[in-house]
Amino acid sequence: MSITNSQDSSITRRGSCLCEAIKFEVAGPPSVSLICYCKHCRKASSSVGHYMSVWNQNNFKLIEGDNSLKKFRSYDTESGNPKDRFFCSTCGSTIYAITTSFASDAYYVRTALLDGPLTKELYPTLEYYTEQKPEFFKLV
Ligand SMILES: [Zn+2]
Ligand SMILES: [Zn+2]
Repeated sequence: MSITNSQDSSITRRGSCLCEAIKFEVAGPPSVSLICYCKHCRKASSSVGHYMSVWNQNNFKLIEGDNSLKKFRSYDTESGNPKDRFFCSTCGSTIYAITTSFASDAYYVRTALLDGPLTKELYPTLEYYTEQKPEFFKLV
């Protein structure tokens, strides 16, 4: 009998933007998954908030689309920490964001871009800026 280990650190997930010009891989489970409802995440996602999972820089690999990946730096974030958001210049999907104000190798990868099922390790367990969360939107 084999037991499936849902925390399998050898698992590699693939993801892409809408037009598939950008393809990437993330290795192992993320350190955390969360939803952020801040103004910038709402605007950048064109949605109620950004659903993201955090991987260490070393566990993120860009496979295709280096030329399509563009960066937008925002300074007036609600946390006060400038952020670089990397997006596809063809279709506009946001791929990941990094904080620029302090040394961090955390990549805030847009979880919904991952192919395959959203398994339990990817379920959000944190919410940021919930005071800006729409009333109709509930984390289940
Ligand atoms: Zn694209
Ligand atoms: Zn945010």
